[in-house]
Amino acid sequence: MLLNYIPKTIHKMSFKKSQKLYNQGLVHLVGAVNSPVRAYSSVGGNPLFIEKAKGSTITDVDGNNYVDMVLSYGPTIIGHRHKKVQKAIEKALKKGYTFGATTKGEIKMAKMVCDAFPGMDKVRFVNSGTEAVFSAIRLARAYTGHDKIIKFAGCYHGHADALLVAAGSGLATLSLPGSAGVPAQAVENTLISEFNNIDSVEKHLAEHNDIAAVIIEPIAGNMGVIQPSDDFIKELRDLTKAAGVLLIADEVMTGFRSKYGGAQEVLGFEADITCLGKVIGGGFPVGAYGARNEIMECVSPLGDMYQAGTLSGNPIAMACGMATLKELKKQDPYKKFEATAAKIEGMLLDAAKENGIDLQVNRFGSMFNPFFTKEEVVDFKSAQTSDTEKFATFFWAMTKNGVFLPPSQFESWFLTSALTKKDLKTIEKAIKIAMKAVAEKAA
Ligand SMILES: *Cc1c(COP(=O)(O)O)cnc(C)c1O
Repeated sequence: MLLNYIPKTIHKMSFKKSQKLYNQGLVHLVGAVNSPVRAYSSVGGNPLFIEKAKGSTITDVDGNNYVDMVLSYGPTIIGHRHKKVQKAIEKALKKGYTFGATTKGEIKMAKMVCDAFPGMDKVRFVNSGTEAVFSAIRLARAYTGHDKIIKFAGCYHGHADALLVAAGSGLATLSLPGSAGVPAQAVENTLISEFNNIDSVEKHLAEHNDIAAVIIEPIAGNMGVIQPSDDFIKELRDLTKAAGVLLIADEVMTGFRSKYGGAQEVLGFEADITCLGKVIGGGFPVGAYGARNEIMECVSPLGDMYQAGTLSGNPIAMACGMATLKELKKQDPYKKFEATAAKIEGMLLDAAKENGIDLQVNRFGSMFNPFFTKEEVVDFKSAQTSDTEKFATFFWAMTKNGVFLPPSQFESWFLTSALTKKDLKTIEKAIKIAMKAVAEKAA
């Protein structure tokens, strides 16, 4: 139904080749994607197939150009194919792709990461955010000797069994698996609390004396963007410390993005274990987890917690990550991100007001997104009051006017330092048209 609806205000744009590839992709790929977030199931229609990207621009196979606000869900923070990054990758490529032994790059990269996160003395590189998080959970259990963990409803921590509970899905906040194929036993040690509700953590801590860790996205980005309220993180830090429970900061999204030192630098706290991903690889598959020496010494080969990876610390991925982080540190774009995001927030709110649409914009640094709801969005429950059909209309109008957005109401939009003034004009124009389209559709 959504597909047939083409508002008058929308440009003509052909998606013929994408559609053709989609049909071909369906044969041997599951839903023609390798990650379900890339499917367009919640906005209708077929996913776009991408040909290439450079700087802030992404180009689909039909030759349509878009301002990229997905940025591969965060990694290409300094833009696609930055000159210095490209050069570093090319240099590394000449030496070989993988050796099954440590290279100098891993030592350098480890220093860069530990310097950025004061709570980390040592780091272990892995190949994805999912891997970083499930390893961190294993580490917390190994270190404390306890099995239970607390997670927050709506926070996503990758797709490991124990963490697929209330993981930004529609499931209620019970300890029930959020996916088929996850045994009930795999999640029976996962307790659920509410984001921004410290009492819901205190309650679990009072009832259980065998909790290993509390894991949180300090700035939630997987139920749309949700900020912690003023004292929430500080109270969480104090509470876990007092209870002898580890605090795991899942900074896979926020690490190097909220600030170079992640949400921990912005919010002024230190987690016991930090998980990284996305930006850290600059577009190559890299994840990492790290902590103080006494905790990391539990990890094999120093300790008896096993965790391994054939391609972990891959030299090409390290080269890309390092070059990205180096450039990012030099650019220090965080103040500018804040100003640009504020500008786009203003565009969204103005256009919504003009068209009589209820809208909230949640924003933290270079992560933000609109929710089509009257209610203030502070947790998973309030996020779900958003009108996803309105979002779908908005999404397609934005696409057809040259802005590439995540195809879901519950994903953050991202900024790159490569964004230009012209891009901002494109975004502004698209927003005006898209809000009008939402209003037309509702009428
Ligand atoms: C993306 C994400 C993950 C999972 O990382 P993958 O690289 O997709 O496995 C985990 N936690 C958070 C907070 C994320 O945003």
